[in-house]
Amino acid sequence: MPHRAVIGLGSNKGDRKFYLTLSLRLIEWEIGAVVRSSSVIETPSWGFESDPFLNQVVVVETALEPLQLLDALQSIERRLGRTQKSRIVDGKPEYHARTIDLDILDYDGLHYHDERLTLPHPHIAEREFVLVPLRELGIDLGH
Ligand code: AMP
Repeated sequence: MPHRAVIGLGSNKGDRKFYLTLSLRLIEWEIGAVVRSSSVIETPSWGFESDPFLNQVVVVETALEPLQLLDALQSIERRLGRTQKSRIVDGKPEYHARTIDLDILDYDGLHYHDERLTLPHPHIAEREFVLVPLRELGIDLGH
C-alpha cells in the first residue's frame, strides 16, 4: 500500500516556473506518482523581504517512509541549487531566497516529531500560500 504525502513547493529565485516543473518531474521519478496538483499561485515572500514566491501543493503516492521522503526532497532541493538553509539567528528564523523549497505538509495524517522532521508541518495554519492550494484540492488537514 503506498503512503499518501502532501507536498508544498515554493520558489522565489531564478526561473521559478522552471524550478517548480523540474522538481515535479524529479518527484515523479524518485518519490512516486503525483496524483493531484493544485494551481500555481504567486504570493508575497513570507518572513523576509524578497521577490514573491510561486507556490503549489501536490499529493504524491509513495513507498518511502517519512525520513526517506525528507531525504529524497532535500536531495532534490540540493540538486536544484538551493544552498542556504533557514537558520535561527537571535531567536528568530532567518530566511533566504530559494530556488526550490519542498515541505512535507502531511503524511498519512501521521503525527511525528524529531530534530529533522515534524508532521504535520507545524506552520500550515498560518500560511495562506499553503491553505489556498489545499482548499482548491479540497484537503483539510484539520489545523
Ligand atoms: P526550511 O529551510 O524552512 O525549508 O526548513 C528546512 C528544515 O525543516 C529542514 O532542516 C528539515 O529537517 C526541517 N523540517 C521539519 N519538519 C519538516 C517537514 N514537515 N517538511 C520539510 N522539512 C521539515
